[in-house]
Amino acid sequence: MLTQVAEGVLVHQSEFMQSNAVVVQGQAGVLLIDPGIQDHEMVCLANDLQELGQDVVAGFSTHPHWDHLLWHPRLGSAPRFGTARCAGAIQTRLADPQFQDFVRTLIPPDIVEQVPLDLLGHITALPAGATVIPWDGPRVRIIEHNAHAPGHAALVIEERGVLVAGDMLSDVLIPMLNVMGTADPIEDYLAALRLLEGAAGDVDVVIPGHGSVGGSGQVTARISQDRAYMHALRDAEVLSDPRLDPSAYGKDFLPDVHDQQLHYLTPSSEHDQAPG
Ligand SMILES: [Zn+2]
Repeated sequence: MLTQVAEGVLVHQSEFMQSNAVVVQGQAGVLLIDPGIQDHEMVCLANDLQELGQDVVAGFSTHPHWDHLLWHPRLGSAPRFGTARCAGAIQTRLADPQFQDFVRTLIPPDIVEQVPLDLLGHITALPAGATVIPWDGPRVRIIEHNAHAPGHAALVIEERGVLVAGDMLSDVLIPMLNVMGTADPIEDYLAALRLLEGAAGDVDVVIPGHGSVGGSGQVTARISQDRAYMHALRDAEVLSDPRLDPSAYGKDFLPDVHDQQLHYLTPSSEHDQAPG
């Protein structure tokens, strides 16, 4: 089911981790951002678009994680864009003949058979430093940064007042850092939040990669919440974050993610005492 969240901007949410696919209406068809997860969900989306008389004329993946790189034949053969670093990261992995087998190990067993991997990651690189998605529709500004994954991009649909945040600014998931990909993951994440803050004045709807769409006031509230998480991680402070509450959505796995990040990023961790 497609839900309109702003004029000409619709969201299709997956059963898997509240993943949001975003549809932006253009002149002659739609831009589809992070299309979805399970076969039947992408078929449902394709059917909805068919009923609206809309073809997909461009795709975009916000970052090179499997759950943002999927596609379905019913969605057609439009170019699927990503930042140069996103495309580079996935192309390197696709060159490994074992990659699909590896991806299967990342997908929960109860849905792995429902996730179509044939078209995973067929991303066309935008030029390095590209600031807009090339398509015939509302201007979509790319805010690339070095936070959750290589080449991660948030998107600002200026005319519609919408921020597509990729895997940041979620109301259900804590910030997940790209701990292996950068020398200072916490500072890079804080820098990314400052970039999003710079765009916040232009938007009143935020669509996270996972979780619920936030309305007016939520953009800055979620930036503040993610920043408080990062400061607590950086300063080894006691953390009070509703997303880590024992009754919260991610109670089965987020406390472990948090512990791993804490372990990896605090100066006393074994990692920093490794020889060499
Ligand atoms: Zn991700």
